[in-house]
Amino acid sequence: MIYDVIVIGGGPSGLSATIYALRARLKMLLVEKNACGGQMLMTDTIENYPGFGEGISGFDLAVRLEKQIKDCNVELIYDEVIAIEYNCFLKKVITKNLTYETKTIIIAAGTLIKKMNVPGESKFIGKGVSFCAVCDAPFYRNKDVLVIGGGDSAIQEAVYLSKFAKKVTVIHRRNDLRAMKILKERVALCKNISVLYNSTVKEVLGKDSIERVVINNIKTHENKYLNTNGIFVFIGLIPNTLFLPDVMVDKAKYIVTDEDMNTFIPGIFACGDIRKKQLRQIVTATSDGAQAAISAQNYIEAQLI
Ligand code: NAP
Repeated sequence: MIYDVIVIGGGPSGLSATIYALRARLKMLLVEKNACGGQMLMTDTIENYPGFGEGISGFDLAVRLEKQIKDCNVELIYDEVIAIEYNCFLKKVITKNLTYETKTIIIAAGTLIKKMNVPGESKFIGKGVSFCAVCDAPFYRNKDVLVIGGGDSAIQEAVYLSKFAKKVTVIHRRNDLRAMKILKERVALCKNISVLYNSTVKEVLGKDSIERVVINNIKTHENKYLNTNGIFVFIGLIPNTLFLPDVMVDKAKYIVTDEDMNTFIPGIFACGDIRKKQLRQIVTATSDGAQAAISAQNYIEAQLI
């Protein structure tokens, strides 16, 4: 069996590429490692996706998108892609279990969560260190938690956590939050959230669960202890490109594409958060996915001429 297109990754960009590929009647396969939805699954409320001004939970949007592709009888397998091969017109997608042949590949494998990599962090994952507020916030009802980071994720999740925790302290390494203004305004209105600027976590301490952390002031270089029951880490994402050859990625490990989602390898496209770009949002991911599918279709048709 030779596919027209194999989409790697079932986040918003991969699902959007799937919808457009199916509508173009391409023979396609979607390969997803875990569950369709990607980072959306860990987001409480999405309120900047057009048409959902009142907000929709990330989980619900993911379920809707997954239903949309399943209703079109998509061929979907749950497996991890470990390599691709692209030395001739027919390309190969190699998963842990099988190898698939295809005319084109759309890489929509998204990003992985970045860790702080400080002593104690790994030891307490699942015992006080979390990367998902939606999953773990209820465990911290009326407790004190720290949120690490100053981007959209950290601030959005701090606001979510403030509905459960007694006190939320955001630890940010600079003196200004990176998050968009609407989120900064929201955090300023939450009485139980405070922000500690110019600070990083140096160490996570405790016996069976987290008891306190060492905070370093990067301006004064002073260390201080801060008692806490939990730490939520949102310090960014890293592209999930380890299974790709180095020539496909830039220094920061993102895939470089043109505006039609072409990588430098003919017939291989990339879309969503995994590619080098300015704005990483669900709306830009779905737009990328649509374009990638149409570019794949155009590529296949051009080979027939
Ligand atoms: P991000 O935008 O890369 O922000 C990461 C934050 O963590 C930054 O404030 C950064 O500090 C800080 N940081 C990085 N490494 C650190 C370290 N080692 N120690 C301490 N702090 C560190 O990541 P994100 O917030 O996860 O967002 C990822 C993408 O998803 C972004 O494009 C974002 O816009 C998007 N997103 C959008 C929404 C939304 O639209 N509502 C929600 C969530 C995410 P500096 O500021 O000093 O660099």
